[in-house]
Amino acid sequence: MVVSQFIIIFYQWNKMKVRTSDLPMVNLGFISCTEVRMNIHDRIDSLKGIGPKTAVLFEKLKVHTIDDLLRLYPRTYLSYDKPVDIAEAEVGTRVTIKATIQSYVDVKRIRSLKIVTCMVKDGTGAVKLTWFNSPFLKQVFHIGQTYYFVGMISIRNHQRVMEHPEYYTETQYNEKLSSLQPVYPLTDGLSNKVVTKAMQAALPMLSEIEDGVPQEILEKFRLMPLKHAIEGSHFPKSFDEVIACRDRLVFDEFFWFILRMRMLRERTVKSANQYVINDWDVVDSFIEGLSFKLTNGQRQAVTEIRNDMMGNTIMNRLIQGDVGSGKTVIAQIALLATVKNGYQAAFMAPTEVLAVQHYEGVKRDLEPYGVRVELLVGSTKPSQKRKIYEALSKGEIDILIGTHALIQEKVVYRNLALVVTDEQHRFGVRQRAQLSEKGNEPHVLVMSATPIPRTLAIIMYGDLDISVMKDMPANRLPIKNCVVGPKYRPTAYKFMLEQIQEGHQIYIICPMVEASENVDVENVVEYQESLLEVFPESVRIRYLHGKMSPDEKNQIMTDFANGFIDILISTTVIEVGINNPNATVMMIENAEKFGLAQLHQLRGRVGRGDAQSYCIMLCGTERKEAIDRLNILNSSNDGFYIANEDLKLRGPGDFFGIRQSGDMIFQLGDIYNNADILKIANEAVDYLKDFDCSIESLIKDIESEQIQL
Ligand code: ADP
Ligand code: MG
Repeated sequence: MVVSQFIIIFYQWNKMKVRTSDLPMVNLGFISCTEVRMNIHDRIDSLKGIGPKTAVLFEKLKVHTIDDLLRLYPRTYLSYDKPVDIAEAEVGTRVTIKATIQSYVDVKRIRSLKIVTCMVKDGTGAVKLTWFNSPFLKQVFHIGQTYYFVGMISIRNHQRVMEHPEYYTETQYNEKLSSLQPVYPLTDGLSNKVVTKAMQAALPMLSEIEDGVPQEILEKFRLMPLKHAIEGSHFPKSFDEVIACRDRLVFDEFFWFILRMRMLRERTVKSANQYVINDWDVVDSFIEGLSFKLTNGQRQAVTEIRNDMMGNTIMNRLIQGDVGSGKTVIAQIALLATVKNGYQAAFMAPTEVLAVQHYEGVKRDLEPYGVRVELLVGSTKPSQKRKIYEALSKGEIDILIGTHALIQEKVVYRNLALVVTDEQHRFGVRQRAQLSEKGNEPHVLVMSATPIPRTLAIIMYGDLDISVMKDMPANRLPIKNCVVGPKYRPTAYKFMLEQIQEGHQIYIICPMVEASENVDVENVVEYQESLLEVFPESVRIRYLHGKMSPDEKNQIMTDFANGFIDILISTTVIEVGINNPNATVMMIENAEKFGLAQLHQLRGRVGRGDAQSYCIMLCGTERKEAIDRLNILNSSNDGFYIANEDLKLRGPGDFFGIRQSGDMIFQLGDIYNNADILKIANEAVDYLKDFDCSIESLIKDIESEQIQL
């Protein structure tokens, strides 16, 4: 865990201070480090009540140790309210009723299923309760007893029913009334009850968690102790407490992130430029030869890159441009310049699909200039990998394109002078550091479509210079948007057919199902079946989901890019960076379930060519807030505007459900919603400088201990 690494770092720092200074030691609040018994890092099956089988399930949630477990935070909380009258209970919502048992508990068998039912009533009405496979309830409930039942009321055969209600005695329920129940991220086979129990068992271990943030900072910024924050996040008494605890945890995420980034900057920014790129003649003719004119923003970015690469210190630049603003060609220009000056370059993408797409683009566009390109991804065959490693170290490959595989140990470059990463938000600072270390301090170019305001960008990308590309290519027609209900679906299909007949292609993003990837798979498969019934046989429909092998995914994306597929049904795996200018319709099912930024990214898959494009957002609810939110996208195609409006709509502490999913590398923090905490964390890191210890000396210490950033 990142945080625990930093506990070690601060511990080192602390030791060093003792060695190098006879000033009174600053109270750093983690002096007990020396006597830490490390059992918080024990595997979770050492907890009472967790066997090896359950541990395997937890591993799916990336929980291996007790420490990991304590940092598996609830995704939401259930509150227990005062009971309502049965007659008043709203159908379709979760309510509590206080009711008396009216009938014997009845157990019916239907095939392997045991259905347990029982009638209850209060002074205002009656409800039929049902449970599955819980015959023991016969022994629990007796006529005349009163219980609190919590569940969703629905109507079946004109009768009010509650399925699988939780039940409590008066005393038990009174305890619940004053608390919130955590709801954890789950995986098949692992219930919320089991996770909650495990968490309760792990809580005593909290005393071993060290608060890595120095005491001075805790005091100055009035931060609550880390232990309280973790405990309160799991078992809060109120939503106010949840917010306060989360704020502390979010602070930590940002604080350590910014600190790491500062370290990276100290390491790289001032490095001398060992790869001066002087010859730009080939690049000039490449730009001449493009089938389009560069936008002003693109030209400005090229000038800045050129100045950087010719300058005295190495380039560390972020290109920030909205989806479709044409960042890829900027990467190609930098790659070409590097190679034409006799060096190697690497181009890293967050997914295999995207890496393959970039590989094909670079091959097509740069091979004519005598550039030798290779692809290295996780699924590359071992024999091919070995060949690539060898050719690379001999300098027989000029540009290597790929995923994380590019930074694996075995990859040795002969003279790596430039590293480009696309859609950087998927990579942490750490990967960037690793990649830089591959070469002897190469130039770094990072591309991002995340629309963050400049003040935040400076914090988030503090180690980078920033080029913003504001304008879109001139040939683009603005995407036409609509937000509609499910009833519109047949009309949408009809419209799609017309587009297909005109030679265009279509994306459909399948309904998103929470918590289970397996269900997602079923979903796309079923969706395809339903479409096969609607569209004529000639329409080629395929699907794509996260569980496919990389080869399969790549094949489908290549087929789609080559026009062999008319409709591509997909989960959100499609989201990042895919470019098929011939696709003109993006339909998103259950659009209300996505974050606005993610929807904007999805929509950015169309409108990338000169044909009119359309985005159809199907909204599965009639809730006004959901529709208002989608209308923001409906009314604008500008990523910055959308991010801002999204922020205005969200209240403070509104952190469930609409996180900018996938956007950033934080578990809890959201750079938009928690912008204020981001700023405070930045101040806190600044404040560290007032301590008698530079970040530089920290870094030396880390290196000597071989602790990786
Ligand atoms: P993104 O910024 O989202 O990565 P891409 O680089 O994939 O966008 O570009 C999207 C499409 O726009 C590509 O097909 C690309 O060839 C095209 N393109 C890029 N720059 C221009 C331009 N100046 N004029 C016209 N089309 C352009
Ligand atoms: Mg892109």
